[in-house]
Amino acid sequence: MTTELSPDAPALDGLLEQARKDYDALAGRGLSLDLTRGKPAPEQLDLAEDLLSLPGGRHTAADGTDVRNYGGLQGLPELREIFAELLQVPAGQLLALGNSSLELMHDCLVHALLGVLPGAESRWADQERIAFLCPVPGYDRHFGLCERFGIDMIPVPMTAEGPDMDEVERLVAEDPAVKGIWCVPKYSNPDGVVYSDETVARLAAMPTAAPDFRIFWDNAYAAHHLTDEPAEIADLLAACAAAGHEDRTFVFGSTSKITAAGAGVAFFGSSPANIKWLLANNQKRSIGPDKVNQLRHVMFLKDADGVRAHMERQRALLQPKFETVARILESELGGTGLATWTSPKGGYFVTLTVPDGCAKEVVRRAAAAGIVLTPAGATHPHGDDPRDAVIRVAPSYPRPEELAEAIKGLTTCVRLVGYEQRAAR
Ligand code: PMP
Repeated sequence: MTTELSPDAPALDGLLEQARKDYDALAGRGLSLDLTRGKPAPEQLDLAEDLLSLPGGRHTAADGTDVRNYGGLQGLPELREIFAELLQVPAGQLLALGNSSLELMHDCLVHALLGVLPGAESRWADQERIAFLCPVPGYDRHFGLCERFGIDMIPVPMTAEGPDMDEVERLVAEDPAVKGIWCVPKYSNPDGVVYSDETVARLAAMPTAAPDFRIFWDNAYAAHHLTDEPAEIADLLAACAAAGHEDRTFVFGSTSKITAAGAGVAFFGSSPANIKWLLANNQKRSIGPDKVNQLRHVMFLKDADGVRAHMERQRALLQPKFETVARILESELGGTGLATWTSPKGGYFVTLTVPDGCAKEVVRRAAAAGIVLTPAGATHPHGDDPRDAVIRVAPSYPRPEELAEAIKGLTTCVRLVGYEQRAAR
């Protein structure tokens, strides 16, 4: 929560004047900096440079499969073994597929709309209304998928333990049109929240009015730690099975932010019935995934420990950037009462919360000074943050010195807009 300090009027005049001077100086520098998307920096991609020379002439998988040929709809078993542990899905219930988990989420929605999900009474497309719960702040591309397919979005507030479960339980119990919920359970995008064991247990056990309710468990940051204390989350798939809701969960993950973004491997994990359902649908759209890329990932990562060791190298590049962000936010905005921010223990984002009604204007002023941020509101369905307070900061891509400059500039914009708002009261 933003703490309101209320300087007396002359002090506020001075703060505003200084902020205006600082902003004019900032705008005069002709910067061109980009903090928009959570892309890995080139140095992070360089860590997996060896992938480009693999599989280096080898073309057989462990079981002798020729990876150059069609087939193998489930993906290479040895790669599924590596990620089974990291994604908390038994290898037999985990598919290794294309290059993007977002694409898999898209496909699952399309197949649920156009075909009948296990447990469903009819296709979603035949139902009058479909709705998804959207914990906010959340990931804009999840919301984009709902918009694309005419799925209503019901915002649910995030807490420090995950979505507000009282609200979730109430909504899913009373409305059969509520067919799903988006969850980024570890180091969530954008606020870095790690779902508590209690949240996972309640998601698994809650009664839902829809018999075909699905949790879209987007574990995009499963291995993406920024501290010495890697977060663990409870095993939702197992908890759902134990609660008698075996088909409730779709688990997604990918190596996009492990090896190469857009040239990695994506995974889907679920109950045997859901796996069968997706494979049957996939069989119509593909004669098999890119097993050459899967083999090169096996050779490069080797095993789950290999993934962990690689992620330590990623962390060595990322952690200092997150520290830079925290240091500058604290030195420039600490004690002003103009902002609060998250200190994530993993993932790719920092969430900056400014006074209500200020986020859009901060982003606009920053853009005018050459610092491009994710549009304010992107963290909410339809791009509409009702408080206009949340700004998502993505520190990964810029070079360290550019990042420092961009964050310092951003704080100047927060002071300018925040003090202007106070002065206008
Ligand atoms: N889910 C979340 C929560 C993400 O932040 C991202 C990347 N920004 C993705 C999915 C996209 O993953 P992929 O590259 O596997 O499509």
